[in-house]
Order: sequence, then structure tokens, then C-alpha cells
Amino acid sequence: MSLLEKSELIKKEFETDHLAAIDAAKPEAVETLRLAYLGRKGKLTALMEDLRNASKEDRPAAGKAVNLVRHHIEAAIDELKSMARSWELAAIVNRAPIDITLPVTEDRSVGSIHPVSLMRQQLIKIFRTLGFTVVDGPEIDFDFFNFSALNIPDNHPARDMQDTFYIDGAEKMLLRTQTSNIQIHTMMNEKPPLRVIAPGRVFRCDSDMTHTPMFHQIEGFVVDENITFAHMKGTIDTFLKAIFGSTLKTRLRPSFFPFVEPGAEFDVECGVCKGKGCRTCKDTGWIEIGGCGMIHPNVFEAVGYDSSRYSGFAFGFGIDRIAMNRFALPDLRQLFEGDYEFLGNFPIHSN
Ligand SMILES: [Zn+2]
Repeated sequence: MSLLEKSELIKKEFETDHLAAIDAAKPEAVETLRLAYLGRKGKLTALMEDLRNASKEDRPAAGKAVNLVRHHIEAAIDELKSMARSWELAAIVNRAPIDITLPVTEDRSVGSIHPVSLMRQQLIKIFRTLGFTVVDGPEIDFDFFNFSALNIPDNHPARDMQDTFYIDGAEKMLLRTQTSNIQIHTMMNEKPPLRVIAPGRVFRCDSDMTHTPMFHQIEGFVVDENITFAHMKGTIDTFLKAIFGSTLKTRLRPSFFPFVEPGAEFDVECGVCKGKGCRTCKDTGWIEIGGCGMIHPNVFEAVGYDSSRYSGFAFGFGIDRIAMNRFALPDLRQLFEGDYEFLGNFPIHSN
């Protein structure tokens, strides 16, 4: 058989095999076809070998014919390869769908909500029912928003009360030590009436059983005409009872914070001993929760509010501290160690 006849024959055989591969519609059939013709022991490879051994006078004509067949086969197989990709996709799409009504047989562990998130969600819910809106603010901020605008000028001793992380190389920038910076941002951007809570992370160089370098606070404040100390007392009493139970007493104690006047701290009756005194409350019968007060006129001045027209109150407390009391945790650091077993004690859903 001459080379011309051989190449004709291979071309014919390929037509048949090509159609069969299309009928099969499987990627494996394409690969089998490729190997059968273009592989090391393939029919076309053998034909090319014959061409190399052909006589000088036969070679031009035969070479032309063999090359035509080769181009034809290579193009056809390339086309099949791209068809194979769509066959694969079709196979995936047509696979039997998953029956989601079947019961789960294996024991899958599911995550739970972190106690701090749980507490935070609960607090936000309570304050929303009291008409507060939630706002956010920067964790890295200028000294002005964290201190100066809050009536804590340079060299004020209150700056030493909060061991501050300053940012290296940045002029007067720090990690906020309190969420009160949000109070300043909000008041500078909006006009009263305001009823806002601002939950967030704060940072102080401090670490022991009841202190961590990062912790969560909620700042709340109300600004309007004729806001009084009684409004503040009512708000604090309402949310403490919502968290700890309506039968527990709450109280305010006089205290000092530079950004309020007058200032107070607020406590809730110890839920363990009901005020009689126990280890949890260090025999005082009370659990300290946070600080509050009437917003200082200097703060209003810093944000451009008329302090003769507006008054307001602010309060702040640690979300982690509340979680610690609410869930009876002995060590605050437990909240941030990521211990799987510890975190598994908390519910999967918040209510
Ligand atoms: Zn107690």
C-alpha cells in the first residue's frame, strides 16, 4: 500500500472513530482517540515514521497528503477537547441532586455565639427598645477625640488612669482607651436630639484576672433640651433590670470623670447573695458596672453645642464585665483565650 493510500485509509478510519467519540460524549473517549492516532504508538505517528523512510521521489507528494491528514486529525481532536469540557460540566449539573430532607447521620459539631457577642447583641436589643440607635467609630484615633474633647487636656491626671497605647511615629494618635471618642465624632457630625449607643473594642496596657489589654465597652449618651439626671437614672435602672432581672436593686454612687458633671458610678445588687454579701461581690452586696454623669459643658463647647440650650447624659461600661457577671465567669481572660470547650458552653443562637 502506498503512503497516499495509507493516509487516505487512516483519514477514513478517523472519521468513524471521531463520530464514535462524539456519540460517547465522554472525556475519556477523546483521550483514547488521541492516543490511537497521535500517541507514541498511534496510527498517524506510524505514518509519519513511514514518511521518513520513503524514497526521495515519493516524499513530496506523500508528505503533502500525510500533513493534510495530520492537520485534519489534530484540529478535530482539539475541537473534541473543548467539547469534553462542556460534557464534564453537563455531567456535574445533571448529577442527582442532594436530598436535603434526609436525616443527618454523623455527629457534626456546630459553633456557638461568643459570650461577648451574645451580651453585646442582648444589650443592643434592650437599648433599641429604649429608642437608641447604634453607631460605630474608629479604634485608632487622634488624641483630641479620645482625650482633649472629653475635657481631659494634656497633663491631666486622668490620662494616667488609662494606660494608653500610643502609635509610634504618628503625631498624637492612639488606640482608643474608651468608646467615648464615638460620642465626640457623633456630636460633631450631627445635631441634637441624639440618643445613641456605641459598642466597640477599647485598649489599655493592663492585664490580670479582671483586666485584659483589649476589652469591649458600650458608650451611651442622650443629648436634647431639658435632659435631666432623672432621665439618666431611669435609663440605667431600666437596662440593668433588663439584663440582671427586675427584682434586683440598682444604685448610683457619686464619682468623678472629667467629661461629666456631676458624675456617678452605677451598681446592681449581687444576684448570688441578693445583697447579703458573698465572695462574688466581695461582701459588699453590690456589683460595680460602670460610670455615668451629665455631659460636661466643656465637652459641648468642644463639639460646638450651645450648653445653655442643650443638656445630656452619658454612661459607659464593659460588655465583658457584664458577661463575666451574667455567666458567672471567674477570670475575664477566659473570654479571649479561644478555648473550644469553654466557648461550647454558650448557646448557638442568641434569643
Ligand atoms: Zn454577693
